[in-house]
Amino acid sequence: MVISMKLHSTREEIDQVCKRIEHFGYKIHAIEGEERVVIGVVGVGDVTACLESVEAMPQVESAVRISAPYKFVSREFRRTKSQIKINGVEIGGDELVVMAGPCSVESEEQIMTAAESVARAGAKMLRGGAFKPRTSPYDFQGLEEEGLKLLAKAKRATGLGIVTEIMSDRDVDLVAQYADVLQVGARNMQNFSLLKALGPCQRPILLKRGLSCTVKELLMSAEYIVAHGNPNVILCERGIRTFETATRNTCDLGAVALLDELTHLPIVVDPSHATGKRSLVPALSRAAVAVGCDGLIVEVHPCPEHAVSDGAQSLDLKQFARMMEELKPYITLWKEARVTEAAAAV
Ligand code: PEP
Ligand code: MN
Repeated sequence: MVISMKLHSTREEIDQVCKRIEHFGYKIHAIEGEERVVIGVVGVGDVTACLESVEAMPQVESAVRISAPYKFVSREFRRTKSQIKINGVEIGGDELVVMAGPCSVESEEQIMTAAESVARAGAKMLRGGAFKPRTSPYDFQGLEEEGLKLLAKAKRATGLGIVTEIMSDRDVDLVAQYADVLQVGARNMQNFSLLKALGPCQRPILLKRGLSCTVKELLMSAEYIVAHGNPNVILCERGIRTFETATRNTCDLGAVALLDELTHLPIVVDPSHATGKRSLVPALSRAAVAVGCDGLIVEVHPCPEHAVSDGAQSLDLKQFARMMEELKPYITLWKEARVTEAAAAV
């Protein structure tokens, strides 16, 4: 349930409502807003009786049942898109945020060159994996903390915020020391111990859609993180497994449009993992911008042919700079659409 209080309700009036809700056996989950307070309620009980009783209170504007199984991430809970601030950049607002960098952090020279170049081309965040989830145990597994330190160095040099993968609930504090955004990879989307451990974490989370996961499962995983205390979740469509093998994955852009209806969380598209092929990345990026995503996360490597992972889908520095140039008219249209949507929402 979501209870909206009347404007300027007092603390005492809010407490009375909370008491009434708890009397029906429900738990107060979140209280949001300053002028107009919204109370999020979860639990099991007599919904109709609770709603009727709370709605009858004079300080309550409205009490609504959220029908979706994902509560706090649903559009029913919050009608306007969440804006998440990361290292001076806002995602979910009126700027399209491009995150770029190599699949893996490999060396100081590699990450510094990539960082400086993607920053010059207009990226606002640097991506790079220090912990790598690899299909084969014999493949490069990442530089781990040494890689995190190199990312921090690249941040100091360029000012770019860092997005990097977290693979285990044991590493949350370590990765959060260095990263601005913790990425949950596709293979860990339903690692519920990890999702729960990200609740108390103070950093925003980039949650990638699992290889064979539905939109509903993605939202339920996001709900785990939010329900455990971290409201700052960004969703990522990175392609799903289908019968098609011509591309590495099938990019579900329809899901991006659908997610915009179902949730207030920002959504980014990863055209690199979605296609597995660098020549397709610019076209898919344009399509993702046109469909209304909030950002892109793109693999870029100074020398893709020597990359230790995902070289075939990585753009080189020049190709990325060209793609960013070519995206400009699409981003102009994207911005116009944002302004129109914002005006319509008011
Ligand atoms: C990555 O971002 O390099 C990665 C491993 O992505 P995904 O989890 O989407 O496969
Ligand atoms: Mn990769």
